[in-house]
Amino acid sequence: MEHTDVVIIGAGGAGMMAALTLAKAGRSCVVLEKGKHLSVSNAARAGGPSLADTLLQEEENCTVSAEMLFRHMYGFSRGTVDGGLLYRCIRNGRKVEALLRESGIQLRLTEDLYSVGFRARHFFETPAPQRWELLAKKLEEYGGRVVLNACAGELLTENGRICGVLAVDGQSGEQTAYYGKAVIIASGGYLGNEEMLKQHFGDITVGPLGSRLSDGAGIAMALKAGGMEDRSWGICAGEFGGYHSRMKGRFPGNMRWAMTGGLLVDREGRRFMDEQLLADQPLSVGGEVTLRAGSYYAVLDEAFYQGIRSARSVYDFYGRPEEWKTGKSALDRGPWPFPEDLERDISEGWAFCCGSLEEAAAHFSLPFLEETVTRYNAMCEAGQDTEFGKNSWLLKPVAKAPFYVFAYEPSAWCTIGGVKTDAFCRVLDRKQKPISGLYAAGVDNGSCYCAPYYDTEGACLGLAFTSGITAAEHILGNWSA
Ligand SMILES: Cc1cc2nc3c(=O)[nH]c(=O)nc-3n(C[C@H](O)[C@H](O)[C@H](O)COP(=O)(O)OP(=O)(O)OC[C@H]3O[C@@H](n4cnc5c(N)ncnc54)[C@H](O)[C@@H]3O)c2cc1C
Repeated sequence: MEHTDVVIIGAGGAGMMAALTLAKAGRSCVVLEKGKHLSVSNAARAGGPSLADTLLQEEENCTVSAEMLFRHMYGFSRGTVDGGLLYRCIRNGRKVEALLRESGIQLRLTEDLYSVGFRARHFFETPAPQRWELLAKKLEEYGGRVVLNACAGELLTENGRICGVLAVDGQSGEQTAYYGKAVIIASGGYLGNEEMLKQHFGDITVGPLGSRLSDGAGIAMALKAGGMEDRSWGICAGEFGGYHSRMKGRFPGNMRWAMTGGLLVDREGRRFMDEQLLADQPLSVGGEVTLRAGSYYAVLDEAFYQGIRSARSVYDFYGRPEEWKTGKSALDRGPWPFPEDLERDISEGWAFCCGSLEEAAAHFSLPFLEETVTRYNAMCEAGQDTEFGKNSWLLKPVAKAPFYVFAYEPSAWCTIGGVKTDAFCRVLDRKQKPISGLYAAGVDNGSCYCAPYYDTEGACLGLAFTSGITAAEHILGNWSA
């Protein structure tokens, strides 16, 4: 049995920021981490957070104010998140930057890759394992600590109040009760829980690009304690290309056909989206559409394949349209594709190359493929997408054999959706009353992330960091001995 002021579940983005805030203010805290190493969390491996009002932005004369970022994100959410919570979190950007700097972690500001109109995304310059070691070291200096191999499994209650966590040591199997005045759940979502993914998205595969240690345990604990789920369920989708569970190497080159703006069809061979959405907003809206489709296929002909191959980049291939901002910022890199990959990808069962669309349709059971291509080619000829309205420069016919078809499934860096909280990260019961002593932060918090995921790159980690601080500050502000 151990006693501390606050018990935190998960040493990821939200958990570590909460712990640093509490410990720096003089409160004792323990962070329970299921993994064997400090750097197992998604946050430890992430590129970087979007933040408002940072010194870095000030230095580069491109400040993104909290109001600006809030208005953008809240507008994007269409009111599906708790506005008070979102605003409170976004205002913590400068504090995140300060804690990272104090710990010795270097950041730089990135360009506006997905054309949102401002530069909120920061990128870690300090390499992955080292930056989490630095955070843990700073936490220790402040008097807090991380316990590795500690899998939180059950919340402890006393007189209707949450008063601790029962955790099992992953190596010895020993159980320890950690008591505290408050518990912050920050266990990183449910990407490692296939059943839960299927419960929300159906019998499809969502390729897990992040840690599978996050298996929904935090959400389950909060629900068991009387909490309720919020309503937005989704993913922060893989933006480097399509995914297929049969792919053996990670991110082979042929995954990128999903993001080129060319023809995509669903599991029956019908067109199902404006393909530019995946090219322009792969993390958010485009990813959401693939989650809805469940499985989808990129269909192209020899002219398209060779055309992109001989161009300098995808953006070059389409003639560098000035108005295509994301084409310029995100799709202007090459060389690609790599023909030597094709045989391997075909043997893995997710790629196919053949002399006729009839063969392709039979191979992947796409009964409407030929009909779809005929209609698509007519729109290419007319120069107008009368179905989904994509930009005319993306209309390239699928006419010249051989034909290439690549099968894809959605993939995710992490999940969206979780526990309903108030504007201070306090977990709410079904009557909307805070459950005494219980907080949820990071992607376990269902009230600050929307589905589709925000179009602001870095929002996942940004809100994980800032919601950790929001929870910690509420605990500090309401401390009574
Ligand atoms: C490779 C990669 C790159 C990414 N890049 C970016 C990026 O550039 N920008 C961005 O915004 N987002 C990015 N993301 C997503 C981002 O990392 C997550 O949204 C963010 O880490 C969520 O923070 P969190 O604190 O909620 O969870 P996490 O950081 O995932 O931390 C949760 C922690 O809880 C632990 N845990 C789980 N269950 C238990 C339990 N029962 N007991 C104890 N501990 C438990 C886990 O092991 C984990 O360490 C990336 C993700 C990955 C995988």
